[in-house]
Amino acid sequence: MTELNLYNTLTKKVEIFKPNEDGKVQMYTCGPTVYHFAHIGNLRSYIMEDVLEKYLMYAGYNVKRVMNITDVGHLTSDADSGEDKMLKGAKREHKTVMEIAAFYREAFFSDCSKLNIKTPGVVEPATNCIPGFIHMIEELIKKDYAYLAGGNVYFDTSKLKEYYVLSNQNEEELKVGVRDDVEEDTNKRNKTDFVLWFTKSKFDEQELKWDSPWGMGYPGWHIECSCISIKHLGEYLDIHCGGVDNIFPHHTNEIAQSEAYLGHKWCNYWFHVQHLNDQTGKMSKSKGEFLTVSLLEEKGYNPMVYRMFCLQSHYRKPLLFSFDVLDNVKIAYEKLVNRIAALGSDGVPASQDGIDKFKKQFNEAMGNDLNTSQALTVLYDVLKSGLDDASKRFLIEDFDKVLSLRLLDGNASMEQEVDSELEEMADRLIAERNEARKNKDFAKADAIREELAQKGIEIKDTREGTIWKLVK
Ligand code: AMP
Ligand code: ZN
Repeated sequence: MTELNLYNTLTKKVEIFKPNEDGKVQMYTCGPTVYHFAHIGNLRSYIMEDVLEKYLMYAGYNVKRVMNITDVGHLTSDADSGEDKMLKGAKREHKTVMEIAAFYREAFFSDCSKLNIKTPGVVEPATNCIPGFIHMIEELIKKDYAYLAGGNVYFDTSKLKEYYVLSNQNEEELKVGVRDDVEEDTNKRNKTDFVLWFTKSKFDEQELKWDSPWGMGYPGWHIECSCISIKHLGEYLDIHCGGVDNIFPHHTNEIAQSEAYLGHKWCNYWFHVQHLNDQTGKMSKSKGEFLTVSLLEEKGYNPMVYRMFCLQSHYRKPLLFSFDVLDNVKIAYEKLVNRIAALGSDGVPASQDGIDKFKKQFNEAMGNDLNTSQALTVLYDVLKSGLDDASKRFLIEDFDKVLSLRLLDGNASMEQEVDSELEEMADRLIAERNEARKNKDFAKADAIREELAQKGIEIKDTREGTIWKLVK
């Protein structure tokens, strides 16, 4: 099995990855909050997590990956002052929270499929697991890690030997980090305590509430990930993923409650993807205007171009988005796919030595904390090499199991392929229409235009003649 060196946020070091059980990886990913479309920043995180999962599979591991869907109203702050995203989405669109969740969940997976991101083996919406959350909270109260105050249940962070295991933060830094306009929740015993269950919140007009031993209410922000992970992956987790904004407080609080509940260490490796930024700073949904995959498509970019844009930089470096850079990647991607399409498709790979050499280089790049840009260089080196076409194709297909750039599909641009029968029919009808116009038979000419429109063909008369395009 290939050695994978991976940066671990927990130890702040690059470490050799070793799962709890030989050959098997238990992996958890924080899923989307489905109150709006995912922006391309969110999708950077999911692309890189997809690369991690696929590289683990490529390296021979049997990977079980679980993702939650945050479809339950939750606050963006632990101080009962942040806004409730799901409620905000429902109000914005005059729909119910469940309608909003269903719509944006589907939109998320549609974006993922366009970006060739594999759907994790288990996808669990938070609203499916309320009894599990309640059980976990009850256990935390029994173990004296949680307390009731003002109608809510809080996790008592002072009961832990170490709270900031993941982040470098300390109490002083945290105080500085707290914005003046954020009101403190006076029910808390300690500043860093967080809500496990709400029955009394500023956001009491929640649509979704459940009965609990503490009254009608809804879960806090973090409990869903601990609970869903333990439900599907058991007490020992190998890798937990998310964007860097998840490190504190979300993942810090996940560790606190999971380890308090389990009574032992929970997850060994924490994988965090740095942010995609635009000129104004971190791309975020709450800013209102943000870039989506559909918008990139409307502008004529194949989603694979965005995937390649992400793979060209390291996941631990912030990435600045610009259309200028994306344009360069578009050109590079189209050239690459065309070069691959021009390779001969006959024969069997003739050079085992060449294949072994390049596979080794690919593994060295990916095994070096997922150095995807180096892996792309290896791919270009394969194309430049003197290997026979069949060996080149074999290697490209092999690397694309991880890179997932659809390199062998042979269709790099967004232009639709028009089949030749349709082309012939359009040319014939346009010629007939021109003939009718010449004969001043405008009724026939209009009927032909209509017939073409019915077939999804739009025509335009120009000085150079009639041109047409497919519109559906
Ligand atoms: P959310 O839907 O807000 O829960 O976020 C989904 C995922 O996207 C989480 O893993 C976040 O950490 C990640 N994320 C949020 N903003 C960005 C960004 N600008 N760049 C990369 N990842 C992000
Ligand atoms: Zn999470």
